[in-house]
Amino acid sequence: MSTESNLRRTFAIISHPDAGKTTITEKLLLLGQKIQEAGTVKGKKSGKHATSDWMEMEKQRGISVTTSVMQFPYNGRIVNLLDTPGHEDFSEDTYRTLTAVDSALMVIDSSKGVEDRTIKLMEVCRLRDTPIVTFMNKLDRDIKDPIELMDEVEEVLNIQCAPITWPIGMGKQFKGVYHILEDKIYFYSTGQGHIIQKEDCIEGLDNPELDKRIGAMAQDLRDELELVLGASHEFELEAFLKGQLTPVFFGTALGNFGVTQMLNGFVNWAPAPLSRQSNEREVESNEDQFSGFIFKIQANMDPAHRDRIAFMRIVSGKYEKGMKMKHVRLNRDIQVSNAVTFLAGDRANLETAYAGDIIGLHNHGTIQIGDTFTAGEMLKFSGIPNFAPELFRRVRLKDPLKNKALLKGLIQLSEEGATQVFRPFHSNELILGAVGVLQFDVVAHRLQDEYKVNCIFEPVSIHTARWIMCDDEKMLEQFKSKADDNLSLDGGDNLTYLAPTRVNLNLMQERWPDIQFCETREH
Ligand code: GDP
Repeated sequence: MSTESNLRRTFAIISHPDAGKTTITEKLLLLGQKIQEAGTVKGKKSGKHATSDWMEMEKQRGISVTTSVMQFPYNGRIVNLLDTPGHEDFSEDTYRTLTAVDSALMVIDSSKGVEDRTIKLMEVCRLRDTPIVTFMNKLDRDIKDPIELMDEVEEVLNIQCAPITWPIGMGKQFKGVYHILEDKIYFYSTGQGHIIQKEDCIEGLDNPELDKRIGAMAQDLRDELELVLGASHEFELEAFLKGQLTPVFFGTALGNFGVTQMLNGFVNWAPAPLSRQSNEREVESNEDQFSGFIFKIQANMDPAHRDRIAFMRIVSGKYEKGMKMKHVRLNRDIQVSNAVTFLAGDRANLETAYAGDIIGLHNHGTIQIGDTFTAGEMLKFSGIPNFAPELFRRVRLKDPLKNKALLKGLIQLSEEGATQVFRPFHSNELILGAVGVLQFDVVAHRLQDEYKVNCIFEPVSIHTARWIMCDDEKMLEQFKSKADDNLSLDGGDNLTYLAPTRVNLNLMQERWPDIQFCETREH
């Protein structure tokens, strides 16, 4: 069993929208022989659409679920790629998915450099010091200077860069990459993006063949490399595994070039399923006994299956169809005969799965984000937090008599983890918080659909939320009386500070050094 688990490499892609995540995913599946020809995986955004168009949203989510978890064999390993919703469907789930992987691939649009969303996702990876592999994409376009790109990653993301491949030219002059560790040159040819290409490569930077093929660019490359190798970091596995250094690959996802080298490096270096901390002890992935935790709950994913699916990351042991597992929070044994996987565009029933794999459990409201399942042991995994919302709306009921139903709906939906509800102390208002804007539409629709509540959302001047922690009871009481105007309870009755502005938050933090303003909250 532990060998099965040792083969797993479970990761997700972090990137800013339009950097090329969908495109590179498609090439990875092509290389993993999951699809015959690239172009068959539908993109999640077939064009710009109004976020309030529910049908469109539903359709898109229907598509996106088939790619929620992708598994493919590669070089003797079994790769699990977890989708991180990125466009309109961006949400807290995107963040939490990163707590369920062992490594991440960072895709950067090389003409733009490090962008906002990447910075934020990288912060989330930092919570667990997740190892990061970097792919500098779109080399077939005019890009920023590669040395500057690496400097930017080092400075903005605070991680050392170790170039593994180095680009030869860019845009129309893009010729290929030099593989620093292999001392090989791989040549790029256009128009081959949809197939697995035959390798066109030569050995040795000093190979005269190189001068024949690319002329004066050959000497430029040698000169540049001397500079680069002198100034950059060498790849060190140890530092990579600690999340301190990232191996950097260059290429074009669209042209399916440079991706193979990246994937080879990735499966070679990325960690096998890691152990997990629980409240009792650290659980190793090679333990025989089954255990896992829930990191995402998705509802209405596919109009044909109107149920909710709870996504579980298996931490140890093996899932077998029909097995019994303990739902620790409820202290109840459940029998699971129909866990699902999402392969090949359809939900398929699953016979077995191992540590590192993701399985889907049918959920009729009893499973929550952060729940632990075991073979019987009473332990609870940690490290599956809520993240502070970044967008806020005031919820206004159309029918004031439905207030109770509204609150119940909002709290139940917040247990699924994509949105959060706050009840300010100083008013009867309800505030909805989310990380992605589409979630407001999802909530409005589901409140109507599942709770028969009609509501609208209004803008509200809240900049961010922070969960309040303080060991000193007296201090906390003082704080509560002073900060009353901006305090609220979240769906789980946790004390939360809703800061009207960033400046206000900073001031409060300065004024109350013994109060913790937490950006994440553990379940
Ligand atoms: P996502 O939003 O990160 O999933 O990005 P997509 O994969 O949808 O790519 C966004 C756009 O960039 C699409 O029009 C892609 O065709 C294009 N794109 C992706 N990779 C490349 C590349 O290597 N070169 C060029 N020129 N365009 C690319």
